[in-house]
Amino acid sequence: MSRPPYVKLYVGDVVRTRKAHPCGGDVWSIERLGADVGIRCRTCGRFVLMERIKFERRIREFLQRGNELPIPEVAPPAPEAPRARRQKREPPLQDPQPRRRILRRARPS
Ligand SMILES: [Zn+2]
Repeated sequence: MSRPPYVKLYVGDVVRTRKAHPCGGDVWSIERLGADVGIRCRTCGRFVLMERIKFERRIREFLQRGNELPIPEVAPPAPEAPRARRQKREPPLQDPQPRRRILRRARPS
């Protein structure tokens, strides 16, 4: 096997996995390291704890290393917080029409 037996993982790594999350996303960021690896789905934001060995087998590629320089060939996806999707809709630009003032001169009768 050409695969190294041990994969170095860092908190902050962004990885793409072979198997996608039920939400459809396959990009994860590593948030916790130990016997288990805590990863967060970048698509739906769910946090998952997984056995390290199991997780290592699922890694397809690193999109970004937490402790190293980002791999230049692969552009990391734009960080998109799913919860911060509160966008204000801007009203279409309109010239406020100047209100015509109708001046009525009260005629002295
Ligand atoms: Zn997900």
